[in-house]
Amino acid sequence: MQAHDLVIVGGGPAGMSAALVAGRARVNTLVVDAASPRNAVAHASHGFLTRDGVHGSELGRIAREQLAKYPTVVYRRGEVHGVERTTDGLVVAAGDNTWLAERVVFATGFRSELSMLDLPGVEDLYGRSLFPCPFCDGFENADRPLAIFASSAAGHMVPMVRRWSTDLVVFTNGRAMDDDARQAIERLGVRVERSPVAKLDHEDGMLTHVVLQDGTAIAREAGFIGEDHAVPACNLPTELGVPTATNPWGMTHYDADDFGRTSVPGVYVVGDLKRAFGGIAAAVHDGYSCAASIVHELAVA
Ligand SMILES: Cc1cc2nc3c(=O)[nH]c(=O)nc-3n(C[C@H](O)[C@H](O)[C@H](O)COP(=O)(O)OP(=O)(O)OC[C@H]3O[C@@H](n4cnc5c(N)ncnc54)[C@H](O)[C@@H]3O)c2cc1C
Repeated sequence: MQAHDLVIVGGGPAGMSAALVAGRARVNTLVVDAASPRNAVAHASHGFLTRDGVHGSELGRIAREQLAKYPTVVYRRGEVHGVERTTDGLVVAAGDNTWLAERVVFATGFRSELSMLDLPGVEDLYGRSLFPCPFCDGFENADRPLAIFASSAAGHMVPMVRRWSTDLVVFTNGRAMDDDARQAIERLGVRVERSPVAKLDHEDGMLTHVVLQDGTAIAREAGFIGEDHAVPACNLPTELGVPTATNPWGMTHYDADDFGRTSVPGVYVVGDLKRAFGGIAAAVHDGYSCAASIVHELAVA
């Protein structure tokens, strides 16, 4: 079985950033990547300095191209299905392949579970005119009639999204909303629709109307989804004993310190898997500081 100082599971911004730092420090590193990132549906990603407006796949292409020049880094396509601790170290398995590693960094991100939203047809619009994050897509949709699909999260989303547009309608989709939160939203002049949504009318993925179960059609051009609709893309850290935590929006993620160190020796977690949602810049930062910390650990070991 081939041995590596470091195996990185997941080759998104967090995993590739860790690989870059490890490669430059000449650490024998393997990246195993299923190459199906959550943001693949988005036409462009925003807010990452020097790559604002670039498609996520282009970021991935540049990352692989830049890593190729580091002889100690190997990038492999594959879905890791098991990581097991043995007396020799951690055994990482993907398909028929197994590798031995001293340390494993999980950078597998999150997976969208759109069925959790109970919004008929949302798959056709997600990433085109319905988005999870106003920092990512608010600017491009500024001053348009927007929908916010949220109940408990609407209280913090509405004041924030008003920075981009004041023409807002909140759709709770039949879910309960605290009366105080609803009144605070309505005092801002924002209508709250509590009926379940029957369908989302759209033209080629671009929202035109939100249709309620009583047939009312409300014209909207885009929207943000505030409810928890994403889960960790892989739960292998749980099998190794890494504890989870819950963020203020109720999303479960893995617990790790600023350097991605978990309470389980040799096991690290970076990017969305650690933060639930941090964006590309935070994922790159996580990969960098985790790999730098590992290089330091190797130096003093
Ligand atoms: C619709 C949408 C739009 C977004 N727009 C923006 C934006 O404009 N700007 C911004 O900064 N952020 C945006 N984000 C968020 C951003 O995409 C994430 O925060 C960022 O990609 C997280 O990076 P990551 O490396 O942690 O995870 P990911 O980018 O999700 O990468 C994880 C990688 O691990 C792989 N993987 C998963 N499981 C396994 C396994 N078992 N074995 C091997 N590989 C595995 C995946 O296939 C993937 O390649 C958006 C997200 C979504 C959903």
